[in-house]
Amino acid sequence: MIVESTCPKCRAKLQYDDKRVGPTTMIRCPACKQTFHPLVSAKHQKVRGKINAKIIGGIILLGLIILGFVISNMSPEERPHL
Ligand SMILES: [Zn+2]
Repeated sequence: MIVESTCPKCRAKLQYDDKRVGPTTMIRCPACKQTFHPLVSAKHQKVRGKINAKIIGGIILLGLIILGFVISNMSPEERPHL
């Protein structure tokens, strides 16, 4: 079966026959000559998505902590009425 993959270096789309690609077989990108394993490449992209979600969650949490800290340091007149 012909499978489409994306080069991890230059993001070029390339196709390979998955019957000819084993667990240790590397495929070569025709555009930048980078060799990579297509399965590793797919896993790598999934992991990166999870890390991004964690970073965004951390930033939101940090923002809420800072907001709470700022409000708690305000005088009663400055405090917004919630
Ligand atoms: Zn490439």
